Amino acid sequence: MSTETSLVLFKPDAVAKQLVGPVLARFQAAGFHLRGIKMMQLDEAILHEHYAHLTHLPFFPSIVEFMRQAPVVAVALEGENAIAGIRDLLGPTDSKAAAPGTIRGDFGEDKMVNVCHASDSVEAAALELRRFFKEGELFAF
Ligand code: ADP
Repeated sequence: MSTETSLVLFKPDAVAKQLVGPVLARFQAAGFHLRGIKMMQLDEAILHEHYAHLTHLPFFPSIVEFMRQAPVVAVALEGENAIAGIRDLLGPTDSKAAAPGTIRGDFGEDKMVNVCHASDSVEAAALELRRFFKEGELFAF
C-alpha cells in the first residue's frame, strides 16, 4: 500500500448535471481526501497537453470541444493506492460498458461524456497535478 495523490477533473457534463458534490462524496466515502479543489475554464493549449496521447485519433477535436464548452472542477485527492482506487470507482472509459455502481456506469453517457478524468499512473499524476495546480494550491493534512 502506498499513499498517492490523483488528479481528478470533473468534466463539463458532471458540472452541468450537478454531479460534483455527489461524485466527490463517493470518493471521500471510499477514503480519499481533498488536498486541493478549483473550478477552471480549460483552453486549447492545456487540453492539447493533457490529451497529448490522443492527438492522432479522429475524435481528438471533439474531446477538445467537449472539454472547452464549460468549466471543469479540478481536485487533488489523496489516499492509499489513490490512482488505482479512484479509477476503479470510475469504471472504464466507455460509460455504456461501465458496471452499475461505478461512477461512469451510474452517471456517464458514452465514451466521451464520462463524468471524470482520473490520473492513470503515479508519474502521470505528478505531471497532471503540476498542470492544474500552482505552487501553494495543494495542501497536506
Ligand atoms: P480515460 O479517461 O478512461 O483514462 P483515455 O485517456 O483513453 O481514457 O481518453 C481520454 C478521454 O478521451 C476519455 O475519458 C474520453 O472523454 C475521451 N475518449 C476516449 N476514447 C474515446 C472514443 N473512442 N471516442 C470519443 N471520446 C473518447
